[in-house]
Amino acid sequence: MTNEEKIEQMNIFEEDLNDTITFWEKIKNIFRGKSLWMLHYCTGCGAVELPPTMTARFDMERLGMGPMATPRQADVLLITGYLSVKTLRRVIYTYEQMMTPKYLVGFGSCTINGGIYYDSYAVINRLDYYLPVDLYVAGCMPRPEAIMNTFKTLENMITKGEANGWKKYVENYDWYRNNQIRSLGEVYVKDEFHE
Ligand code: SF4
Repeated sequence: MTNEEKIEQMNIFEEDLNDTITFWEKIKNIFRGKSLWMLHYCTGCGAVELPPTMTARFDMERLGMGPMATPRQADVLLITGYLSVKTLRRVIYTYEQMMTPKYLVGFGSCTINGGIYYDSYAVINRLDYYLPVDLYVAGCMPRPEAIMNTFKTLENMITKGEANGWKKYVENYDWYRNNQIRSLGEVYVKDEFHE
């Protein structure tokens, strides 16, 4: 952490010393940002950049970030590239099974605008029509440096309380749900998330 970041963090506390709830919420956000467990839903080619990011050369674990096998224990959902309509349904279920607060990161141009599959009948164009994306990593495919930089940015956003996609999803659920239904059709799923 740079000196400027430390000073900024101390300023956050000074503003709220008299507000206990806000104070502790900010402490929690600092810890949350420093312990990010990722569920990587390897839908596309971008996933191939994750092994070098996790292993010896870039070693993202030194920053408190590591892989997690199940949605219920994960903080971050990575969508690592193009997303077919068929897979979108599974990704929505997976996101909804994650505990809050949770964060969603889209890898590469395919999640931003469909990328090279922009006119495919089987691939969605914009991930943020269906789920609340907190951050995108630009590139086709993004290099490990870009991925590390994205996670540091996400950590800063969490620390400042700015990574609030999960709240946006709840507040605008009808809008997301309508977009999901438009692509997927009505699906009957009997579980705690869907009526
Ligand atoms: S953005 Fe490029 S690397 Fe990523 S999934 Fe699309 S085609 Fe593959």
